[in-house]
Amino acid sequence: MQLGVLCRLPLAVARAVLAALRGPLCALCWNLAPLSRPLSLPLAGWRRVSAISPVSSAGPRRERDDHDDASPTPTSVNYHFTRQCNYKCGFCFHTAKTSFVLPLEEAKRGLAMLKEAGMEKINFSGGEPFLQDRGEFVGKLVQFCKQDLKLPSVSIVSNGSLIRERWFKKYGDYLDILAISCDSFDENVNVLIGRGQGKKNHVENLHKLRQWCREYAVAFKINSVINRFNVEEDMNEQIKALNPVRWKVFQCLLIEGENSGEDALREAERFVISDEEFEQFLDRHKDVSCLVPESNQKMRDSYLILDEYMRFLNCRNGRKEPSKSILDVGVEAAIKFSGFDEKMFLKRGGKYVWSKTDMKLDW
Ligand code: SF4
Repeated sequence: MQLGVLCRLPLAVARAVLAALRGPLCALCWNLAPLSRPLSLPLAGWRRVSAISPVSSAGPRRERDDHDDASPTPTSVNYHFTRQCNYKCGFCFHTAKTSFVLPLEEAKRGLAMLKEAGMEKINFSGGEPFLQDRGEFVGKLVQFCKQDLKLPSVSIVSNGSLIRERWFKKYGDYLDILAISCDSFDENVNVLIGRGQGKKNHVENLHKLRQWCREYAVAFKINSVINRFNVEEDMNEQIKALNPVRWKVFQCLLIEGENSGEDALREAERFVISDEEFEQFLDRHKDVSCLVPESNQKMRDSYLILDEYMRFLNCRNGRKEPSKSILDVGVEAAIKFSGFDEKMFLKRGGKYVWSKTDMKLDW
């Protein structure tokens, strides 16, 4: 069933159908994950499930379960170290359910463990990463990952509203990629979505950040969530003018406990679009060579997400179920509960040229 059909159903009926489709709709995003279980509780909800590997010409789907010996390698990790944000996007997938942030040294300890386990790329996300200690917290983590851990790729996803030039001066050398969320080039639409802060203009700020990325040699990326309010927009000219290294285009989706359901802080049902509408948006922008589409289907289980306690988040049941913290049980034990599908990660192009020294960009 397409999400567009769901959109036309009464809300209660749509929710019931969505509950039945939880598995298939499960996907993640650059900004998601729930916090539904205290750290010490066992994973009572974890059960044996079949990992749905991408269908390929290579053969039938591989069955995997929670006793599978081969743990995936945490090659690329998204660490959502905070849930706090200064924006109020109506579809937010990683809402402010806690205000917890690990002490800096504990976060560094966890990152060193991940490096030891094979991590090559770290992405810092939130919430808004620049909210904590005015960007100093994320700056110190970025510096640590590049300088001490020598990771090939260090990136941040931010709404961009709190980044100052002095941050680039201090930490720009250590950052490979800065991804800024921008869903529309029409400021009225941004306000409707919830991306905005009083008089600040999100689009003007985007251009300022683009310029700083040039000046301080940081690769510039744009993330857009395609939803009911921007699905008709033509962004070709603006994106080409900004010339990002990647334009990641996500299809808005519902995550129970985050932006859908009784215990959620958002009601994102009115933002959802159908697969066909998403395809039409992609087709309208097919000439943008840096576009990387992420449909709900494509995003399934192909991101490794750590929450603010450094717990992997498993989305296979349609909501984000946390593992134990890597700080308590180690990476290998925790990652078995991550629901991560390494094959899908590779299939969606999760591994790409992600170190700025390899990009050969004309800054
Ligand atoms: S910018 Fe919007 S989507 Fe991102 S964390 Fe903040 S509220 Fe959520």
